[in-house]
Amino acid sequence: MNYYSLNQGAPKVSFKEAAISGQAPDKGLYFPETIPALEPDLIRDIETLPEAEIAFRVIRPYTGGTLPDDVLFDIVSQTVNFPFPLVPVTDSIASLELFHGPTLAFKDVGARFMSRCLGYFLKDQQKEVTVLVATSGDTGGAVASGFYGVEGVKVVILYPRGRVSPVQEKQLTALGNNITALEIEGSFDDCQRLVKQAFTDEGINAKHFLTSANSINVARWLPQQFYYFFAYKQWREKSMAPVVTVPSGNFGNICAGLLAKATGLPLGHFIAACNANDVVPSFLQTADWQPRKAVATLSNAMDVGDPSNFVRIMELFDQQLLKLKDNLSAVSISDADTIATISSVFSKTGYTLDPHGAVAYRALENYREGHPQAKGFILETAHPVKFPEAVKAATGADIDIPGALGGLMRRPKQAITMPPDYEAFKSYLMSR
Ligand SMILES: *Cc1c(COP(=O)(O)O)cnc(C)c1O
Repeated sequence: MNYYSLNQGAPKVSFKEAAISGQAPDKGLYFPETIPALEPDLIRDIETLPEAEIAFRVIRPYTGGTLPDDVLFDIVSQTVNFPFPLVPVTDSIASLELFHGPTLAFKDVGARFMSRCLGYFLKDQQKEVTVLVATSGDTGGAVASGFYGVEGVKVVILYPRGRVSPVQEKQLTALGNNITALEIEGSFDDCQRLVKQAFTDEGINAKHFLTSANSINVARWLPQQFYYFFAYKQWREKSMAPVVTVPSGNFGNICAGLLAKATGLPLGHFIAACNANDVVPSFLQTADWQPRKAVATLSNAMDVGDPSNFVRIMELFDQQLLKLKDNLSAVSISDADTIATISSVFSKTGYTLDPHGAVAYRALENYREGHPQAKGFILETAHPVKFPEAVKAATGADIDIPGALGGLMRRPKQAITMPPDYEAFKSYLMSR
């Protein structure tokens, strides 16, 4: 299995090369050359298979022999070593909880898988490998935790001072070891600018082997398919394909779900649930792609104005909008409706949604108004404790901090403070 660039201007590469380079040299996203067909017994026996076995069988065709089976099995076992429960909320809606990983957000799976693949692929490199990431919050924590202790890889995370939540800051700064946090006296855009400039800096590249842990990397994108298999494993009414609702920002997660369905996983209609950042919902209505500057919302991990993975979804449906619309709808949910949904679901059922899950929940409720027989699940992508103000405002209840996070909260913050200045950043990297 090889990967081609969706910009069609770069040679095909192996999974290993795609995972190391992230983006193709023509700036396109990599896409698998063929859509593998599932082995029929995987679906037939899914209820009896352990999660690691399912994950191994799903991802193996995509790795195209670049990882020996025993190595790949170890990697997926470490990637999915926490629960993924499908929790019934009402008779017709369940919540697939993807927040039981170390940083309480679904990005843990992609980050853990990618870090271990890179650790394996780069172990014979002569140069030191440095992963550079700019983060506005969630990604940095998942990457820090995912790469923590991975041999041969150092991680440098840039985050904007005072603009991440206290929990997020601890996740970036309290690990230490091979993870270094740079607290930039500026905005997220400043952090991103410094990282982008470093990637093109010959001096730095001569000294360090730089790579990014960007969400468009195939090694972060493809393992997200696992969620949909784990949900199907737990779906009781196998005779009725579940409607799948995914809170979407950059559209990587939902694209992985649509890919899983394309390989033969029996899922029903997909709904992309967006916040006020409604580029995709408008595109499905008007066929006009109008990227915009992101606007800030309560579901901030979905504040994306130009969703980069959507080109992969179009490719999956042969660039045919009508075909796409048969399988996918997209809606935009306001902050007011997000809060109202957290509140009403809590009072009717006792279930606590986070703002991202609430966007999905409302989208599925709206869909069910037109399809009252439909049953389905939402992907609950973050633990409500990560958004305590919004959740408390909606429910009036305090949320307990899960045990693992409590330990992290007691560890000291370690960060290097730096102005948003390229020379300062460069001299730091060159002195390492
Ligand atoms: C990143 C993120 C999303 C959006 O996922 P995409 O793959 O970018 O669409 C949704 N919820 C949470 C909590 C996230 O961190």
